[in-house]
Amino acid sequence: MNDDREPTTYPAITGHARWVTPDPATVLRAGRTATLWIQPEGKKGELYSVEQVARDGVVVAYRIGREQAGAEKLYTVTLGSQSEEGTLLFCSCRDAHYRIRQGKGGGSACKHAQSIRAGLSAIGLLPTERTPHADGNESTDGGSTGPHSDGIGG
Ligand SMILES: [Zn+2]
Repeated sequence: MNDDREPTTYPAITGHARWVTPDPATVLRAGRTATLWIQPEGKKGELYSVEQVARDGVVVAYRIGREQAGAEKLYTVTLGSQSEEGTLLFCSCRDAHYRIRQGKGGGSACKHAQSIRAGLSAIGLLPTERTPHADGNESTDGGSTGPHSDGIGG
């Protein structure tokens, strides 16, 4: 058994996210719930309900939850600041808090954040991303650095 407290880096989540609700942008803007089909690579897909969380008329987050699971399984994906990858997303789920995943540098890289990102950009609700598709080829995961290492190089 390993007694190390080193954080494990989990592989990035890939998969598919597709809106089931017709015209989801209009539905979401109206403050109603749209349904998103999320299928992580190699797993079976599930339906998630998504709705906007607005404060003073500004969308600050999206609430996402599995359709069958009931209210307690709702997570909040908060819209953060802009980065080179686009809007940073921060999810309230355990995966986002305790697991370090490859891929997205700044925000959460859990299934919810990734799917919200994909879903929102597909319908133009995510503030502009500069790079349409970046190669995930930057970080090597040989060594174990700190739990959160930002490579901000001026
Ligand atoms: Zn999450």
